[in-house]
Amino acid sequence: MDDYKITLSESEIPRQWYNVIPDLVTPLPPPLKPDGSPIGPEDLAAIFPMELIKQEMSPERWIEIPDEIRRIWRLWRPSPLRRAHALEKALGTPARIYYKDESLSPPGSHKPNTAVAQAYYNKEEGVKTIATETGAGQWGSALSFAANLFGLNARVYMVKISYEQKPYRKLLMRTWGAECFASPTTRTQAGKAILEKDPDSLGSLGIAISEAVEDAATHDDVKYSLGSVLNHVCTHQTIIGLETKKQLKIAGESSPDIIIGCVGGGSNFAGMAFPFVKDKIDGNEDYEIIAVEPTACPTLTKGPYRYDHGDTAKMTPLMKMYTLGHDFVPPGIHAGGLRYHGDAPLLCSLVNDKVIKARAYHQIEIFDAAVKFARTEGLVCAPETAHAVKAAIDEAEKCKETGEEKCIVFNYSGHGLLDLSSYEAYFDGKLEEYEYPDELIKKSISDLPDIK
Ligand SMILES: *Cc1c(COP(=O)(O)O)cnc(C)c1O
Repeated sequence: MDDYKITLSESEIPRQWYNVIPDLVTPLPPPLKPDGSPIGPEDLAAIFPMELIKQEMSPERWIEIPDEIRRIWRLWRPSPLRRAHALEKALGTPARIYYKDESLSPPGSHKPNTAVAQAYYNKEEGVKTIATETGAGQWGSALSFAANLFGLNARVYMVKISYEQKPYRKLLMRTWGAECFASPTTRTQAGKAILEKDPDSLGSLGIAISEAVEDAATHDDVKYSLGSVLNHVCTHQTIIGLETKKQLKIAGESSPDIIIGCVGGGSNFAGMAFPFVKDKIDGNEDYEIIAVEPTACPTLTKGPYRYDHGDTAKMTPLMKMYTLGHDFVPPGIHAGGLRYHGDAPLLCSLVNDKVIKARAYHQIEIFDAAVKFARTEGLVCAPETAHAVKAAIDEAEKCKETGEEKCIVFNYSGHGLLDLSSYEAYFDGKLEEYEYPDELIKKSISDLPDIK
């Protein structure tokens, strides 16, 4: 079959999410309180709605998706699975390349899959305002979009450098009725403490998380929401891989060879990969599953697998993950969504157990790939997504050498139409190859809590 896109009808949107927790090779190391003691559901209740806490710790393999969430998803779901015929031809590869197009949601990425679910559960439990952080603005705009659909306020702490340099997503948030602040702010103790030390702080994701969490913890009708990393976020995103499995069957591809996604906090990758992971752990399939990150933020490829805080002010629970240290402030690379110091504990566990492989690329080579993709397939991808595109092209080129007719599938996590300034920097030769120095990693992980 040589279709360009494989679509499903709205009634074929899956009715259950897949939760990988019961299928992990090694049981998930539990989250701990900032002081290292065990954490219970009651400790999270101040900042998350109960249903999401339940999902976070759920031992159930399948979790029912409420009809209201499926109804709103129909604005853009099911998303098409596209066959990259033009790219394959340009590469001269015998490989078949498919990509799951998550760029069609109103905010332009996979993030609304979980934003809609999270807004729904907050609304159900009487919450009025959802506070969150955002880096380049993808998550902030996704949550603003979803909160607005449920009549909730969204309050977004946006990393200051992005707030100043990336005005368009801030304007999207305003369009959907959200409040957006440049973090660090003077609204929170965490923000004030940073500003006292460094009045010109450009902010970081870790600082913005501290501010949003504090906002939720200190107000009764405010809850916190995270766009990646946590188990329930990864679970919500499995809608991507579940649809992809159905679509691959329709395309006559019962068993893909390689599954690829880019990794920031790990949610879009998890969403694509986890529904395939079980087949691999059970020994029924031998997929190669590849997580791709930037060399400027090499969490999976260079960080140690240790307990660390999720934020700079150490207010969030400790989670066992590959980490560059909670004080890690990444250089100004252009893939703003891939700059978090840690990664989803679920993904890290599977990397540690070698079910999933990790790989890192420089920012210039990923833009080379993005432009090749735009000039063949026509779609202009987000710089984050370009990491997955690059890996897919590399794998297809290997097939050209070996003659293998592999089936390669990657997640197309978002479009780059609001990231054209990064493309401009690339075209003007202003991007540098950057590898986060080992010396700095040693330094930033030197004060990790001493927990096994
Ligand atoms: C946020 C973002 C990512 C990275 O986040 P994950 O949680 O790792 O998925 C990747 N691609 C796009 C387009 C994004 O907006």
